[in-house]
Amino acid sequence: MSKPLFFYSDDFARYNFGPQHPLKPVRLGMTYELLAAYGMFEDGLQVVEPQALDVEEAAKTHSREYLDVLRGLRAEGGRSRMLWYGIGTGDVPYFDGIYESSLLYAGASAQAAQAILDGEGGGQVAFNISGGLHHAHYARAAGFCVLNDCAVALRRLRRKYDRVAYVDIDVHHGDGVQELFYDDPTVLTISLHGYGRTFFPGTGSTGEIGVWPGEGYSVNLPLAAYTDDKVWLSAWREAALPILRAFAPQAIVLQMGTDTHFLDPLAHLCLTAQGWLEAVRDVKSLGVPIVAVGGGGYNLTTVTRMWALAISELAGISLPDAVPVSYRHRDRIPTLRDHELPRIPDAEMGMARSFAAKSVREVNELLFPHFNLG
Ligand SMILES: [Zn+2]
Repeated sequence: MSKPLFFYSDDFARYNFGPQHPLKPVRLGMTYELLAAYGMFEDGLQVVEPQALDVEEAAKTHSREYLDVLRGLRAEGGRSRMLWYGIGTGDVPYFDGIYESSLLYAGASAQAAQAILDGEGGGQVAFNISGGLHHAHYARAAGFCVLNDCAVALRRLRRKYDRVAYVDIDVHHGDGVQELFYDDPTVLTISLHGYGRTFFPGTGSTGEIGVWPGEGYSVNLPLAAYTDDKVWLSAWREAALPILRAFAPQAIVLQMGTDTHFLDPLAHLCLTAQGWLEAVRDVKSLGVPIVAVGGGGYNLTTVTRMWALAISELAGISLPDAVPVSYRHRDRIPTLRDHELPRIPDAEMGMARSFAAKSVREVNELLFPHFNLG
């Protein structure tokens, strides 16, 4: 029997910016343990130890100079130029092993894509929860991201497929991925994200639609603080999903950032785990192979259960809502779904609704004609 591949290594914990940093690699271990407690590794998923990405392959996504700087950071004097490349900032502090662990994360996404190409594990879905580092640029680290594993996976899929899509449901704009394929009509990028003057990374307006010949192949749905399940899902279904369907990708990289959740400390969208899961379900319903990668998520209890929900959904396994008693963190994570819902004041709700309606209208006007959508 072939089970979907789940790339995982204890070495994932080495991508660690330190105790003060919001990105906590322990969330990967907590997710792994939760899946194990549900027995997912017995009948549902096959765990595979990933390998570091080959530097030659990394150089198809990032500049050689940037990779050389990353590799040389340990060497004497190697750190003098690192700020120029986005390393050593508050968001991306330097740590020993930053290069090696970044290559491991990207390698796991490349291998997940390769599993799809080879039809391994059923060929319908493969997982790398360490991935989803969508803010990494061609020659610069940003937003906790050093190497852009999403782009690496998309390029790997392009070895076989003519049209691939990237779907980003993280609360932040998938700027690095968009930028790397901005002139490429063979890679459709879709991002739904919070948007505001002070909200990272500050890009992702509806007008960013790609440039010739990639014009029409970048889709952005900016949303306001307090956007809830209903508003978020209707924006996704009225603007993004029809384009995704019309593009008819042969494979999809799904970035499963969970920082859209109402309890996330770094953002102000108000989704529930089950609302967010609906979009994952919609992507699965297209029947196209999926490379599912991780992404943001800074509330340890929500990221863990949201990934468990998404992974089980994509693997076609239904899990009981009540977390097994054997799970070490069951006192903090008693159920997978949310049973307490966010309370949103009417005024904020109204603003979020009209902001989303404007984004939907703009995407419909700018991009629907390109895909012959009415
Ligand atoms: Zn994020």
